[in-house]
Amino acid sequence: MRIAIIGTGYVGLVTGACFADLGHTVICVDIDRERVEKINRGEAPFYEEGLEELLKKHVPERLRATTSLEEAIRDSDVSFISVGTPSGLMDYIDLKYVEEVSRGIGRCLRTKDEYHLVVVKSTVVPGTTEHSVLPLIEKYSGKKAGRDFGIAMNPEFLREGSAIHDFMYPDRIVIGAIDERSAEILKELYKDFTCPIMVTDPKTAEMIKYATNSFLATKISFINDIGNICKQLGIDVYEVARGMALDSRISPEFLRAGIGFGGSCFPKDVKALVGKAKEVYYRPVVLNAALELNETQPLRLIELLEKRVGPLRDRHVAVLGLAFKPGTDDMREAPSIKVITSLLMKGAVVHAADPKAVPVARRIFGEHERLKLYTDAKEAVKRCKYVLIVTEWDEFRDEELYRGKIVIDGRRVPEARVAEHYEGVCW
Ligand code: NAD
Repeated sequence: MRIAIIGTGYVGLVTGACFADLGHTVICVDIDRERVEKINRGEAPFYEEGLEELLKKHVPERLRATTSLEEAIRDSDVSFISVGTPSGLMDYIDLKYVEEVSRGIGRCLRTKDEYHLVVVKSTVVPGTTEHSVLPLIEKYSGKKAGRDFGIAMNPEFLREGSAIHDFMYPDRIVIGAIDERSAEILKELYKDFTCPIMVTDPKTAEMIKYATNSFLATKISFINDIGNICKQLGIDVYEVARGMALDSRISPEFLRAGIGFGGSCFPKDVKALVGKAKEVYYRPVVLNAALELNETQPLRLIELLEKRVGPLRDRHVAVLGLAFKPGTDDMREAPSIKVITSLLMKGAVVHAADPKAVPVARRIFGEHERLKLYTDAKEAVKRCKYVLIVTEWDEFRDEELYRGKIVIDGRRVPEARVAEHYEGVCW
């Protein structure tokens, strides 16, 4: 098939590269010219394992990028909207990018004679595809959904750090379509995938994505809650989790206690669902509790350090990990931001290390005389007696980093136990 991908972030570009690898012709669109030029040189604009190799393999024959939405819609049969859907004010989702693209697609379809399928891949709150995307495309194209063009919602479940693998081998594919024709085109596109394919209406597909992310986020906050109690009682929450996971009703996934969830999805998606619930006068108690616990969990690292060593003013503290998880340079809503900001506010000198995310951290924090950034953790810990573990990169699984140090661990890194003093955030 000829596929257009609109928005070349983690989801869009991975989707495009994988479809190209599956033999389709892909044209990627982005408003970021620099990003487009990079993609056309076969370079990945962000770090994701295996992505650059796929781009090198398929650019320019099967995958190219452009800033022209018009060219992309003209040269494709199916287009995927995969622009960002950030948090807006008061927990509400900000749909401005999705709406802008919908208007743009509408204008392009005005002059296109052939049938075209528009697929929403961005995570959007229930109702968006049918009540926002569809009417905008109808309005700006002057055409009729279901007759002149199709509409579907196809949520993405990939995880940064293993995005290509997750896209190629998903647990399931969810297709929320307004009609059979739209659903059939997507079923054809995914026909070589062996996982279950569920076809439903768009708002159910939208809700499946939110419910999934909210469930996983809640599971993390749940085990952190248990961990915080366990620590007070002298019980190892990892032993508790192991015992829980032996129950066939509970999987061991997302049951690792620590400093909580971050990233571009969980925090904003749970908030967006809380925001959507507000519209229908419902206050989701469980979701709010999951968010509340996650707000303060990273700061426990600092609380525990202060308890041990006293005020942190002018003390040199190493922070191991900037990315919200290993395998990515993404720092959106990363716990490291809260930890570093709080340390700086307390007057500490911070030496932070991350193998991939240092350039991203530079953009976030700018130049700060009390914040030093390193790609090599050994350099970061050199001048520090105190070490906080924030991201579980393999690079941090080195006993040498921790000997003679006072370590507060947010991620359960076993090598850190050789420290002079070792303590887990909730174990
Ligand atoms: P991102 O912020 O990394 O990328 C979005 C891209 O869209 C940017 O390159 C931006 O320049 C581009 N863009 C914005 N407006 C545009 C326009 N008018 N035309 C063309 N391009 C435009 O976003 P992401 O992390 O890939 O997320 C995209 C969507 O997928 C979000 O809704 C997110 O919730 C969802 N999602 C993300 C993940 C993840 O792990 N990142 C996983 C599943 C779902």
